Amino acid sequence: MPSEAKIAGATLVSTNPATGEVLAELACASADDVRTAVQRAKSAQPQWQATPVRARIAVLRRFQELLNERRMDVARLICREAGKPAAEALATEVLVVLDAAQFCIHNAHRFLRDKPLPHANLAMKTKRGKLVREPYGVIGIVAPWNYPFSIPAIETLGALVAGNAVVLKPSECTPLVALELERLLLAAGVNPHLMQVVVGEGPVGAALVESPVDKLIFTGSVATGKRVGEAAARRLLPVVLELGGKDPMIVLDDADLEVATSGALWAAFMNAGQTCLSLERCYVHRSLYEPFLSKCREKIAKLRVGNGIDSEVEIGPMIHERQLKIVEEQVNDAVQRGARLLAGGKRLTELGPNFYAPTLLADVTNDMRLMQEETFGPVLPVAPFDSDEEVIRVANDSEFGLAASVWTGSRRRGEAMAARIKAGTVMLNDMISCFGIAEAPHGGFKQSGIGRTHGEIGLQEMVQTKYVDVDLIPGIRKVWWFGYGRKYQQQMNGFIDVLFARSWAKKLKGALRSAGLFRRSTRI
Ligand code: NAD
Repeated sequence: MPSEAKIAGATLVSTNPATGEVLAELACASADDVRTAVQRAKSAQPQWQATPVRARIAVLRRFQELLNERRMDVARLICREAGKPAAEALATEVLVVLDAAQFCIHNAHRFLRDKPLPHANLAMKTKRGKLVREPYGVIGIVAPWNYPFSIPAIETLGALVAGNAVVLKPSECTPLVALELERLLLAAGVNPHLMQVVVGEGPVGAALVESPVDKLIFTGSVATGKRVGEAAARRLLPVVLELGGKDPMIVLDDADLEVATSGALWAAFMNAGQTCLSLERCYVHRSLYEPFLSKCREKIAKLRVGNGIDSEVEIGPMIHERQLKIVEEQVNDAVQRGARLLAGGKRLTELGPNFYAPTLLADVTNDMRLMQEETFGPVLPVAPFDSDEEVIRVANDSEFGLAASVWTGSRRRGEAMAARIKAGTVMLNDMISCFGIAEAPHGGFKQSGIGRTHGEIGLQEMVQTKYVDVDLIPGIRKVWWFGYGRKYQQQMNGFIDVLFARSWAKKLKGALRSAGLFRRSTRI
């Protein structure tokens, strides 16, 4: 298993989590390799920045075509290395990346072109300003294993189209998927120095943070995110941190029970519950509570768990033993503290090394570990509530704030609840799928992170905004330059009254006092 192999010498072992089969042994990058990759990227980036945006977009278009052609190969590779069903990889990784590429293709030119910046200040009326968006240079990307293709691909496409080079450190669990992404981009025409993958465990990520990258986009756990944030702060390296979640689902008394239960199962169990936006806490109005539980139980019995290479399978294995143990501990703790186990709660060793049965727990309370820590496994914990006030309080009772969902027949009621939930995204009557909307910004409140990826706000993270100002009368010295004195002070006071006094009489007096300000000759 990758988790146990650590770096044996300088080798990383990629393993199929469904079978334990070794897929590949790869040489790990050293800290020197990481620095060399970043230096190569730095040398290649200026030429890429000078390449017209339309030409950069053409490369993304070729990447999109290639990915579309090879989509089943990519989906199967994701399945073999990360365990999720190939059909799910197609929908939640390949399709999402094709759409993100489309977003860049359609919007990057408009977003990146210079924008005039009109201003109001009368004193500055001889000036014209514009906003220019410049790439940072080299963007370091550190990625997790749970969306091994879509997360680094979306970030890489945004970085590249904005004119940056990328050095990507994928998760130690999923290096092959990252190398496939690199292959596709190179085949589309990206210079090999502009997109490089450095393979290895945590220390390789740490080496990337310490290397001379110009910005870092990190996606992973809160604990690692804090370490990355600290290291970055020491050198004021700008970072985006996309971290964990503990997303609540709120089922109001007017929700459609059939829809809400099917949605709950998908949101809790897709990718074996290993999604940052997974349903991790489910609060159901007491009037629907028991019917909700029995419907969930009925539907869980119909779920097909197994090796996701079989297209009939809906839930694959967990990524590794370490993650499985966390889930077991949290479920056992909840049961010991009074939660009712209604389904699952055990390993499925007959299927392979890392399978855990889809698990339904009732009567959980917010003080249980299961309701406070990220579980990241196929577990659906359900608790009843009696009032909107109460459920808003418990939903917000978390150090995380990635996303949330409200299930209701009333859009007005749902939107009113959404306004009170502290999370980066709130969905009505669905979960997780916001990640598949290329325009929608993705990121969290509270400990769930800093900054955003996806859409225009995500593109904004890939550029530094420069303000360029042109003086239209370059041949005159400016009134605010040296040459201060009593008269100047009076004139300036008068001018400020013209602009900001509330009464017309005071404005008029100010105009008289400021006379001559713009004609005064500066002393120096
Ligand atoms: P992780 O924090 O263990 O690892 C993430 C990446 O960081 C890996 O590539 C790892 O090798 C690297 N890393 C480890 N130590 C490092 C260090 N000191 N410096 C730099 N890099 C280092 O997370 P994981 O187990 O791979 O992924 C699961 C976590 O990611 C969950 O908490 C999940 O919620 C979160 N996640 C968040 C989002 C989001 O968009 N908010 C998306 C997917 C996953």
